[in-house]
Amino acid sequence: MCRHLGTCIFCKIIKGEIPSFKLVETDLSFSFLDIGPLSKGHSLVIPKYHAEKLHQLPDEYLSDAMPVAKKIAAALGAENYNILQNNGRIAHQEVDHVHFHVIPKPSLTDDEG
Ligand code: 5GP
Ligand code: ZN
Repeated sequence: MCRHLGTCIFCKIIKGEIPSFKLVETDLSFSFLDIGPLSKGHSLVIPKYHAEKLHQLPDEYLSDAMPVAKKIAAALGAENYNILQNNGRIAHQEVDHVHFHVIPKPSLTDDEG
């Protein structure tokens, strides 16, 4: 466990202390819409375990998170999308609780461009 646990915004989202637009929830994972979406439907999948970086996350949480990301990608119906996971500031991680982005990539013919 990490010393930031008490102040972690994603732990607070899991506990319902910070509101979020919830998508899929399992025993080990929680997912919700990103507050600053890079595209319509941009979502986050987080383990219900406070690990800052991927290598600190127990395998069972990783195994649970990927099917959740799959479900969201399928539900969004995006032909093109990125699954993104950043570790460390230099690698653009802003929130120190492991999270997987599901980022649809609209095509030029979609409304959003
Ligand atoms: P990172 O750069 O750490 O990989 O991504 C963190 C993501 O968390 C960003 O895309 C940011 O918009 C999102 N985010 C940060 N705070 C909140 C919040 O309070 N609620 C939601 N729904 N998303 C957040
Ligand atoms: Zn946390």
